[in-house]
Amino acid sequence: MSIMGRLLGSAVSRWGEDPWARGSWSLIGRHGTPQDRVTLGTPVGDRLRIAGEATHPTRAGMTHGAYEQGVAAAAWAADLGHRRVEVVGAGMAGLAAARALTQRGVDVRIWEARDRIGGRAAAAEVAGAAFDLGANWLQQYDDNVLARLAERLGLTTVVTDFRDPLVLGGEPIPHGLEEDLRERLAVAAPGASIADVLDRWLRDPAPWTPDEIRRFIDAEIVMDSGAPLSWLSARHGVEPGVGQGDRWIVGGYRLLTTHLAEGLDIRLNRPVRHLRVGPDGVLLTSGDDAMQVDAVIVTAPVPVLAAGVVTFEPPLPESHRTALSHLGAGRVEKVILRFDRRFWPEHGYYRVHGPADTCISEWLDATVADGVPTLVGLFAGPWLDTLWTGDDADIAARAAEVIRAAVNG
Ligand SMILES: Cc1cc2nc3c(=O)[nH]c(=O)nc-3n(C[C@H](O)[C@H](O)[C@H](O)COP(=O)(O)OP(=O)(O)OC[C@H]3O[C@@H](n4cnc5c(N)ncnc54)[C@H](O)[C@@H]3O)c2cc1C
Repeated sequence: MSIMGRLLGSAVSRWGEDPWARGSWSLIGRHGTPQDRVTLGTPVGDRLRIAGEATHPTRAGMTHGAYEQGVAAAAWAADLGHRRVEVVGAGMAGLAAARALTQRGVDVRIWEARDRIGGRAAAAEVAGAAFDLGANWLQQYDDNVLARLAERLGLTTVVTDFRDPLVLGGEPIPHGLEEDLRERLAVAAPGASIADVLDRWLRDPAPWTPDEIRRFIDAEIVMDSGAPLSWLSARHGVEPGVGQGDRWIVGGYRLLTTHLAEGLDIRLNRPVRHLRVGPDGVLLTSGDDAMQVDAVIVTAPVPVLAAGVVTFEPPLPESHRTALSHLGAGRVEKVILRFDRRFWPEHGYYRVHGPADTCISEWLDATVADGVPTLVGLFAGPWLDTLWTGDDADIAARAAEVIRAAVNG
């Protein structure tokens, strides 16, 4: 038995290069505001509506926000009297929309590009148990519709205290920095980026040291966004979410998505390429299939839409295209590592800074799932470009070295 633990199994995410995600979750760029989310989700006439996490003005980037937007889009279509509605995407928003439409007696079908449901809520089976490679926590637990569903289903959830991570190989972040940052962001000029605010702050850092400020930005912004600080909006780029009663689901989010998908007509491996909206309905095209229906709800992620993977005829209105251009997504990747023994201190959640500024990883101890020592690592920052190369086993081995080195000090 190795003192530093032998790997029993691993899994690695690749959200950045996944053609149906192209990033992790939506964010507001320096020229955007939350209104862009509202605009993107505003129905295009009576037959087309974009839903999904990116369209939620206050719960973006989270599964329950996606779910709520799916339900809202379903109500819109049903209230208009549409009898036959197609949904693009079997992620949380698409599943919620299809379920709500079915409950209203509407004939609905989901077209999903991948060979699985769940979208960015995706599990991997590693050494005998399933863990999440995408969405991990039920955030804002007390006010989260999916948390209520998890409770009804009798799922086991475990609290994570993001406010008290064990910082491995470094000093904890001093109190007071968060308030200082929030005040600076609130008064940032429209169009300013986080990098602009940071540059100014570092020129006059007292009472903090530049290192404390940089580490705080890495922990609070780089880790929570995975986006370049020069792109992310200072005023609107830090949105609510993490640190509001988060709990993870033992067995993973798939316990929710499989439940939501029950009884739905879902076509897998069917990427939708073209939507032609006319006065009598929408013609949806996927490969050789073409379907004329009353209305379509599109839940593809922002970067997928921005890349023109789905073409619209007529094109999306200028307002929607502008909103899309103001939004984007960062890149946070995950690794699941299962070991034959625990070599890290017992704490629950860990933060590792470095090797350079704007490179950070955080780690969840998920051993409680089945007793096998398990770490779920989240990585963000430019080092992903070098860390996330080669095959999954290479990446997992590199990630394991990061946590081993941090534990060793
Ligand atoms: C690493 C990571 C960690 C996260 N952690 C959390 C967390 O802890 N808590 C939390 O609440 N949220 C978290 N999130 C965010 C959360 O996963 C998303 O907000 C949510 O799952 C989005 O749901 P959605 O339905 O809007 O989009 P998606 O889940 O992306 O679903 C869209 C679906 O559309 C499909 N699609 C795309 N294009 C087409 C096309 N042309 N034709 C047909 N189908 C198409 C996709 O394959 C996908 O299945 C995390 C995300 C990532 C990547």
